[in-house]
Amino acid sequence: VATELAELGGDDAAEVTEDNAPVPVVAVVGRPNVGKSTLVNRILGRRAAVVQDVPGVTRDRVAYDATWNGRRFTLMDTGGWEPDASGLQAAVAAQAEHAMNHADVVLFVVDSTVGATATDEAAVRLLRKANVPVILVANKVDDERGEIDALGLWNLGLGEPQPVSSLHGRGSGDLLDVVLDALPDAPRERYGAYGGPRRVALIGQPNVGKSSLLNKLAKQTRSVVDDVAGTTVDPVDSIVEVGGQLWQFVDTAGLRKRVKNASGAEYYASLRTASAIEAAEVCVVLIDASQPINEQDQRVISQVVDAGRALVLAMNKWDLMDEDRRVLLDREIDRELVRIPWAQRVNISAKTGRALEKLAPAMETALASWDERIPTAKLNAWLSDIVSAHPHPVRGGKQPRILFATQASSRPPRFIIFTTGFLEPQYLRFLERRLREEFGFTGSPIRISVKERQ
Ligand code: GDP
Ligand code: GDP
Repeated sequence: VATELAELGGDDAAEVTEDNAPVPVVAVVGRPNVGKSTLVNRILGRRAAVVQDVPGVTRDRVAYDATWNGRRFTLMDTGGWEPDASGLQAAVAAQAEHAMNHADVVLFVVDSTVGATATDEAAVRLLRKANVPVILVANKVDDERGEIDALGLWNLGLGEPQPVSSLHGRGSGDLLDVVLDALPDAPRERYGAYGGPRRVALIGQPNVGKSSLLNKLAKQTRSVVDDVAGTTVDPVDSIVEVGGQLWQFVDTAGLRKRVKNASGAEYYASLRTASAIEAAEVCVVLIDASQPINEQDQRVISQVVDAGRALVLAMNKWDLMDEDRRVLLDREIDRELVRIPWAQRVNISAKTGRALEKLAPAMETALASWDERIPTAKLNAWLSDIVSAHPHPVRGGKQPRILFATQASSRPPRFIIFTTGFLEPQYLRFLERRLREEFGFTGSPIRISVKERQ
């Protein structure tokens, strides 16, 4: 429901100078003429006050104090410059990059009456790597008809477009509610967070060999780096060179110090697992290959898949394997790991160093799948072939029509299928299987959701 913005920037605005607590920064980014200034004015109302002391704010970036529903934030307008035509794409990209490195939330504004241009797409390629929430604003949606144009912006891969008319106020209240939801409780520390090594977690039940693996990998490289220029390394992380590349092994403090807490060890282990998965982009799940695959292994794998992280299975302690155990393991893999046929397995020994060189390529493959984006045209060409060869079954005389699909995001890849009715879970599983047959996604979970349209 579209709401009008009336009271924003009203009486509350006077109080904001009272305390000096840092407030989150919301940056507005987009091409010239998409309506950034109009949006900023809409959000601020007439009582705009320029803020001077925000790091990263230079004279061409103007920051204002704003409040919505009692929450303060700084609104950073990155417009107001006139790049020449040839430099436009680079200028917008630089602006996007600055915003994602300095703001807590980025509003990326697109003119929905024009649609996404090459310049928009260049900026989006950067914004997808942002560590802060990016909200896609579909501006100039002045009436209901405009909503259709906004839908087309799904395929930018920045999630749901927020339709707004900055000029008339339509949808701006809803947009601000989305902004508030995305604001962090505490603003970030303002240094670059993008472009560092990729984040990997070593997880698995106690005694599978996580510390041994980390130590072995660290020993094989010339240097373990604690500080990499331009990145913020959490003190609980380790940066280790593996396969000629730096990786940030997250949440390794406990592993490094080999903290073994006798009572409550399992509790701490499970907490650690959850936070490591959360912090990682790719998880290496270690399994003790010399022992039967058990429920705890399964739980750890499920946690990774549910969290939507890239996954590599490391069958550790391979030095202990004999022929009998191998035969048994093959059977266990068929039975216990059927849900994740897409995960790559490497058979390693943290003790002897066996096959450790296979780890980095497997992590890279998984991350490439995790980052993967399928162009809409290619996706729909595939979908229409599949649907005509294997239509959805007719139930009670009805058959949902499958209209269109788009990849709404990556990390992991998420797809939306637009239909005229409910799709059976079995049919969805069939589509997922075929999608993987066609496009791969080795090492990454994928998500498919269905949106019914009347
Ligand atoms: P910026 O320089 O990219 O921030 O864009 P401006 O805010 O200057 O707006 C560019 C043009 O688009 C101006 O003529 C605005 O009046 C117009 N504009 C901005 N928002 C809207 C909107 O929601 N609907 C319509 N129809 N026009 C808009
Ligand atoms: P963590 O609890 O997952 O960190 O496991 P540790 O690294 O502490 O290893 C638990 C035990 O398994 C130790 O006694 C290690 O020496 C042993 N271990 C780890 N990796 C291997 C391996 O590849 N082969 C063999 N034989 N033993 C291993």
